[in-house]
Amino acid sequence: MDVVLEGHGLRKQFGQVIAVDGLDFEIHKGQIYGFLGPNGAGKTTTLRMIVGIHLPDEGGIRILGTDNPRLVRSRYGYLPEERGLYKKMKVLDLILYFAQLKGLTREEAQKRAFYWLERMDLAHKAEKKCEELSRGMQQKLQWILALVHDPDLLILDEPFSGLDPVFTEVMRGVLLEEKRAGKTVLFSTHVMEEAEQLCDAILLIHKGRKVIDGDLHDVKAQYKPMIFIEYRGDGHIFENMSVVEKIRDYGNQAEIILADNVPPHEFLREIVQHIDVFRFDVRAPSLREIFIRTVGEDHEA
Ligand code: ATP
Repeated sequence: MDVVLEGHGLRKQFGQVIAVDGLDFEIHKGQIYGFLGPNGAGKTTTLRMIVGIHLPDEGGIRILGTDNPRLVRSRYGYLPEERGLYKKMKVLDLILYFAQLKGLTREEAQKRAFYWLERMDLAHKAEKKCEELSRGMQQKLQWILALVHDPDLLILDEPFSGLDPVFTEVMRGVLLEEKRAGKTVLFSTHVMEEAEQLCDAILLIHKGRKVIDGDLHDVKAQYKPMIFIEYRGDGHIFENMSVVEKIRDYGNQAEIILADNVPPHEFLREIVQHIDVFRFDVRAPSLREIFIRTVGEDHEA
């Protein structure tokens, strides 16, 4: 598979803070890849090194076949975390400006600008100044700026932040369209569920370092499954069971990890003698669960 983007030994320090501490990753053509981690993990710093805003202190990146992101600017789209640039410019003018900067003719730029303005339900704001847009609308505009020149690679920093649920769904659809068209997507998020639904592969970062990475299914396969139950009765019974390695008991529901080699059906047979069980699912652990198991209960994402 073609490697579209890779980082090796990336390190970045700001004063005393080591924001990124030796990260490696490899992103293949057609993948949706997630940089995951809690606030301050180093995701934005890594993305900024990829697009050349920050120079790494150590290590390097290779993007679309070159070490210099500036040379391939027209082939990737970048959605930054911060907003509020070009406040006084009109929305349409800003899109046209960006699109032409990335190599589109004025006619192409206009066609694609109107297409995305319609699709993002922003056409009625085309003549407004950027500063007059709501936060969510500004985020939609950032999406348009990243997409307008039909890039091969999308690099998106917290792209769903500020979007309402309807537009979150629309933009998930857009990312899947991009993937099906053979494009590559890298996005960052601290919301594990977003990554879980979309990503083919992930890099989980904590304190600037890799916690785990790889194909999502392979990552999950490395962890013990979790049993989810809905029940009525006295949950204290779980506490005294030696087959239970770990439990999170919410009263009506519980999430349980069994000790090694304990078959779930035997556990079920045992508990139904003491409590009423309405639901019993054996599931692969969620990314959130994996994060907590790996990084520790003290730092939930
Ligand atoms: P979030 O989810 O909150 O956006 P993040 O994973 O994107 O977090 P970064 O923004 O990369 O994390 O920050 C990593 C660390 O580097 C943090 O401790 C942050 O305070 C620090 N940091 C980032 N940029 C700078 C900077 N320009 N100057 C000083 N420190 C910085």
